[in-house]
Amino acid sequence: MSEKDGLRTYRGKRHFDRTSEPSGERAARDEAARTADDDPAFVVQIHDASTMHFDFRLEVDGVLKSWSVPKGPSTDPHDKRLAIPTEDHPMAYRDFEGVIPEGEYGGGTVIVWDQGTYRPTSHDKRNRPVPFGEALEKGHATFDLRGEKLRGRFALTRFHGREEASGGSARKPTWLLVRTGSGGGSGRGTPDPRRARSALSGRTLHQVAEAPDAPRWEPNGGEQK
Ligand code: MN
Repeated sequence: MSEKDGLRTYRGKRHFDRTSEPSGERAARDEAARTADDDPAFVVQIHDASTMHFDFRLEVDGVLKSWSVPKGPSTDPHDKRLAIPTEDHPMAYRDFEGVIPEGEYGGGTVIVWDQGTYRPTSHDKRNRPVPFGEALEKGHATFDLRGEKLRGRFALTRFHGREEASGGSARKPTWLLVRTGSGGGSGRGTPDPRRARSALSGRTLHQVAEAPDAPRWEPNGGEQK
């Protein structure tokens, strides 16, 4: 699937004259500086929409593959977190923090809870590395997260749950996101989304909702309007 096709669903759901989310139209140019040698990016956003949830996104082939994780990723290997696939997002979305207007798709406040890079760790039976996109297509991918909050090995595993589990979209499979235990897991689970602070700006959901356009104090906070 080409990148353009990958973002068609994303663009089709949004009005970019009303939401400050990135359209991804400039993706190729914006990402030109990234090279194949760079580790791919991941981001976890907290999204206070009609239902509070976390959005878990992994860079794969130029887009952010995305899952909605109602309870958020847990650092406790005992927690199996439901992860419902959502549409691919443009790479620029990994810095998106702000307020999506009420009435628009996903209306509500978004903060970047964690961000960093990851290393795919899936291997085949002969112990050869499997490209990450291929591992996802087969329904099981493992990876090491190197974020500010999430560190260590995680696995995403597809299963075909009941239709209700995927929000009424019968064709959509469901996944589980699990910390697989390697590395010094603290087992502290996931913090309360309402008290959690942005990895980009240090702000809470509430603070972003009150002042979505406040300048960021982090070096990568160049606002683009
Ligand atoms: Mn969301």
